Amino acid sequence: MEDFPSNLMEFETRFSTEEACRKYLYQLRWPEGFICPRCGGHKGWRTDRGLIVCPACGHNTSITAGTIFENTRKPLMLWFRAMWWITSLKTGASALGMQRVLGLTSYETAWTWLHKLRRAMVRPGRDLLSGRVEVDETYLGASEKGLRGRKTEKKALVVIAAQEDGKAIGRIRMRRIQDASANSLEPFIEESIEPGSLIHTDGWEGYAGLKKKEYHHEITVLAKHKESAFELLPRVHQVVGLLKTWLAGTLHGGVSHEHLDYYLDEFTFRFNRRTSKSRGKLFYRLVQQAVQVDPVPYKVMVKHVRERRNRDHKI
Ligand SMILES: [Zn+2]
Repeated sequence: MEDFPSNLMEFETRFSTEEACRKYLYQLRWPEGFICPRCGGHKGWRTDRGLIVCPACGHNTSITAGTIFENTRKPLMLWFRAMWWITSLKTGASALGMQRVLGLTSYETAWTWLHKLRRAMVRPGRDLLSGRVEVDETYLGASEKGLRGRKTEKKALVVIAAQEDGKAIGRIRMRRIQDASANSLEPFIEESIEPGSLIHTDGWEGYAGLKKKEYHHEITVLAKHKESAFELLPRVHQVVGLLKTWLAGTLHGGVSHEHLDYYLDEFTFRFNRRTSKSRGKLFYRLVQQAVQVDPVPYKVMVKHVRERRNRDHKI
């Protein structure tokens, strides 16, 4: 049963206490009922401090341990407001916007929360694309008119998969990759698209190995210049156009490459749910995914970003 508030009034009424937020997290984290991680027992008593005590072995389990809320010192009510705010935005979220709306004193906290929540927006290895899927790469951060304050002139290479839905676009997946070699493209495809699907690409050699994998592969060789890829792989290129517009609007042109992955996740989350009329359902999905991802402490997140940056600069 998908259970979520359908509007702001219902949201405010429902999540007005820490206990109500914990109860919601508990339900989404253990939809089939609690299982003790130590003894496998199926009973658990919830304490008012967010712990579940196993009556069989006495083990304590924290409701937020192992989720993006692990070790947070802020009230869950504030996190819930952050998630509601993010999902009620039609466009992208900014750390400054979040700081203002939630009344957070620290910009750093807003930034960290936003990146944690973006991580929860796309679950690698889940909800794979299937059927006919177009795949192509594009460069982002190229010198385009109207882009201001770019932090780097270096372009980022992004691979995009767009599922066909008749003439329209179904769901999408995307990832920043180091290069367009098979070693970079194939892991993305295998983690994003179900085996047995038909993958439609241009004649680039990086895709040549797909035949040996469990995919059907349709190749449309571009006779002329790469520009005409727009007509041959129209869905992917429409997504690229939307992504570039979105990035320019959300980041005011300041695409910081070290964080591009998070923005790609946010874009994908919003795009794949663009037809959903219910904001409450988006909220539900985000909370559901937030209790399923691993926690990422701020230090680790920044370290990861630094490593990435160093690696990029070596190329
Ligand atoms: Zn137990």
